[in-house]
Amino acid sequence: MVFNLKKDFPIFTSGELKDKVYLDSAATSQKPKIVIESLIDFYQNYNSNVHRGIYDIAEKASSKYEEARDKVAKFINAESLSEVIFTSGTTEGINFVVDAWARRKLSPGDEIIITQAEHHANLLPWQRLAKELNLTLKYIKLDLDDFTLKWDGLITSKTKIVSVSVCSNVLGPIWKNGINEIKALIEDAHKVGAKIVLDAAQSVPNAVIDVQMLGADFVAFSGHKMLGPTGVGVLYIKKDLHDQLEPYQVGGSMVYSAVFDKSIWKESPYKYEAGTTPIAEVIALGTAVDYLNKIDFKELAKFESYLCGKLIDGLEQIPEVEIFGNRDLIRDYGHLVSFVVKNIHAHDIAAHLNTNDICIRVGHHCAQPLHVLLGAEATARASFYLYNEEQDVDRLLKFLPEAIKYFKR
Ligand code: PMP
Repeated sequence: MVFNLKKDFPIFTSGELKDKVYLDSAATSQKPKIVIESLIDFYQNYNSNVHRGIYDIAEKASSKYEEARDKVAKFINAESLSEVIFTSGTTEGINFVVDAWARRKLSPGDEIIITQAEHHANLLPWQRLAKELNLTLKYIKLDLDDFTLKWDGLITSKTKIVSVSVCSNVLGPIWKNGINEIKALIEDAHKVGAKIVLDAAQSVPNAVIDVQMLGADFVAFSGHKMLGPTGVGVLYIKKDLHDQLEPYQVGGSMVYSAVFDKSIWKESPYKYEAGTTPIAEVIALGTAVDYLNKIDFKELAKFESYLCGKLIDGLEQIPEVEIFGNRDLIRDYGHLVSFVVKNIHAHDIAAHLNTNDICIRVGHHCAQPLHVLLGAEATARASFYLYNEEQDVDRLLKFLPEAIKYFKR
């Protein structure tokens, strides 16, 4: 089984990954040629600011920028273009919601619910806000037997925000019933009037998200994990909230009028995009979406989970290896596998694999509290995307035992 797409990615055909195995797409994906060309085209041919100038290239840049918004809106099935806000990434998207919504709307004693499996991007902003405003931060617990989350009974009338990852960057799938469970969580949060924020950094690239089907209030994701450039991301904000949601930043280009004692904001999305945004990156993200639109996401999920299953099968044969995450769910629709090798530091394993041209990620993956729960200071993580091949798994499984043998000497 193979998608055979490496040919579209210059880093694999002529760049420094030509003869290497890249298993770190959960950190950042590689970029197809058309995305790189889109960046060059902008700077080489029509570089200008957007929504300001009236000369030809400024009009062209503005219309390409808005085309990208349209592509993203269709990709996630947003109801309106006004719901797609360009940010610098998932981190900024969540900080946006924390500062522009939660900081203004929540009062002491109110509850925020997140999970024990969050990336720091969806933990630290809430933790800080809770301390500053005297809010209660509650955690959906991770069941350490099956690595899934159980949220029964946690939502109360005091709950004002529920903010969760759709897919963990350490464990992969964490919701037993997948997206249906997220949908049920959203419905429960809405029953008590709470708003729901989805950290979709790991899910949009591999499984997309249908925002209308889910009914989430806010959804944050990053362009660089879905074949786009760094420095650009998306915050989906449900239309119904635009009247109640103040801009996160104010400044250039987001007002209708400003006089010395007051200013009137434009409508969304413009009121939420102050200053000069990452224009080239937004346009190139649109190109990345064009590329992704040619991918059958059902086949992609099958392919990635097949690679995960093959890796798990191999890892299970190595007695020193302990795998984290729900293996059944990973075999079903995962795109990454995290593990430790007993008595050998994950960094040593990765360094040894690197000498054999294999790139995996090690560390706490910006999920330190989760690692405390797992009882591992650091884990090794292999993550897959549409350009990976079965041989990549074979190579990892060939050299991992060698690394273990080397450090056990
Ligand atoms: N949430 C999750 C689940 C992630 O995997 C990441 C990136 N590793 C982030 C948030 C943060 O994304 P970014 O650094 O692009 O803002």
